[in-house]
Amino acid sequence: MKSSVTRRSIVAAGAMLALPRALRAQALFDTDVVIVGAGAAGLGAARACVRDGKRFVMLEARDRIGGRVFTDASLGAPYDAGAYYIHWAERNPWRPIASELGVALRDDRTIASGVWLSFENGRPVDRSSRRRNFGDLSRRFDPDEGEVPDVSFIQRVADAPELVQGARGLARMAVGEEPERVSALDYARLWEGDDLIAPEGYGALAQRFGAGFPVKLSTPVTHIRWDGRGVVVESPAGRLSARAVIVTVPVGVLAAGAVRFTPELPALTQEGLGGLAMGALTKIGLRFDGNRFGLPVNSNLWDEIPGVGGVNFECWPFDRNLIVALFGGDFARSVLAQGERAAVETMLDRLTAILGPQVRAAFKGASVNGWATDPFSMGCYSHALPGQAGARAKLAQPVGERIWFAGEATAVGDGEFGAAMTAGGAFLAGEAAARAVRI
Ligand SMILES: Cc1cc2nc3c(=O)[nH]c(=O)nc-3n(C[C@H](O)[C@H](O)[C@H](O)COP(=O)(O)OP(=O)(O)OC[C@H]3O[C@@H](n4cnc5c(N)ncnc54)[C@H](O)[C@@H]3O)c2cc1C
Repeated sequence: MKSSVTRRSIVAAGAMLALPRALRAQALFDTDVVIVGAGAAGLGAARACVRDGKRFVMLEARDRIGGRVFTDASLGAPYDAGAYYIHWAERNPWRPIASELGVALRDDRTIASGVWLSFENGRPVDRSSRRRNFGDLSRRFDPDEGEVPDVSFIQRVADAPELVQGARGLARMAVGEEPERVSALDYARLWEGDDLIAPEGYGALAQRFGAGFPVKLSTPVTHIRWDGRGVVVESPAGRLSARAVIVTVPVGVLAAGAVRFTPELPALTQEGLGGLAMGALTKIGLRFDGNRFGLPVNSNLWDEIPGVGGVNFECWPFDRNLIVALFGGDFARSVLAQGERAAVETMLDRLTAILGPQVRAAFKGASVNGWATDPFSMGCYSHALPGQAGARAKLAQPVGERIWFAGEATAVGDGEFGAAMTAGGAFLAGEAAARAVRI
């Protein structure tokens, strides 16, 4: 049989070896880097590629960029359906980005102008004892108080029954999950700092920033091969070969098997994935006709159903005719399981119990952002399971020097920073991954 290695191919291979490394990569692969997902991490990776002169292709499953940073304008009055606070603004990359783009930011303390009222099943309650306990609760989850053990939120307050209810509320509203399933140590590692807000929307800011980057929308990646040189990334748009791939797909989506890997991912990466889960924080925007029910702008109503969960109703944010319901944990999952119409009815029932029948009379429309049922997020953001506080660092380890997992879930590097769960952290993780790719 005649050999397929011809004299011409040997000459071509020799010529290739003579090329500088970067040019050789250009000749071998369609592009240097494929970025999977155009959320905050994908946008961070894209900017780093541009700055480093790396060629890249960004593939995004949705018909828009921004991922979980999304300003919902469907009700005519915008609100952030995902990320809202620009946390630890002193070091958050979105702050200088906003400044470069001329996007105004405000300190969240300056907008806390309205009233804060608490209810239990629609009936007013006094929460002053809860507020008194808040300091003790914060100290339990604060790294400055010594090493926080890698146990669940509930175990962390096992010796202080007066803090249990607060720990439940913290887990459900800050992580979106039940307190038995969240690692206190993972939470304690998160950075603290000033919070800023973009009145026009965090999502609108991300859209403006990302508008200049090339991205293929409505292109879900289904398969990543890394059994040869570099990687081959498959999607409905075809196959793309690259030196490396940066996978910013949320861990809930990865755990559901939406992206296949050939060969399978190494044990360390799988351990990392297995140690993380996604909360169910949900937002429902409710539009009203101008009747403000006597509540000042930026008021908050907290309504608790004992033993089940609670809902925070943020009223008239930035003077808009909107109430935004925020809730998490298993309560959110059960509300979403009823379907969108029923979910809206549940929120209107709860508001009616607090404010009376005028709520339904003034109601104009709603939009449901159930991140836990969204196939491209499968949850609000990641948390480590109790005993698994090392999971993020495991997932952050590159695979075969050609697959980087980057996003809010890996925004800890090798444990050197505490930016997980946030849009700022996702950006930093994407940026770091793109810098680490060698072409
Ligand atoms: C209700 C809620 C409130 C929040 N509040 C805050 C807050 O106040 N402050 C804050 O900093 N953060 C907040 N967050 C978290 C923040 O939104 C996320 O941490 C951050 O946006 C995650 O960015 P990412 O790039 O890691 O992931 P994503 O934004 O999810 O980006 C991943 C992208 O991958 C795409 N994708 C999925 N599957 C595929 C596939 N197969 N192929 C191609 N693309 C795919 C997705 O569509 C998405 O665009 C909140 C989130 C929620 C849901």
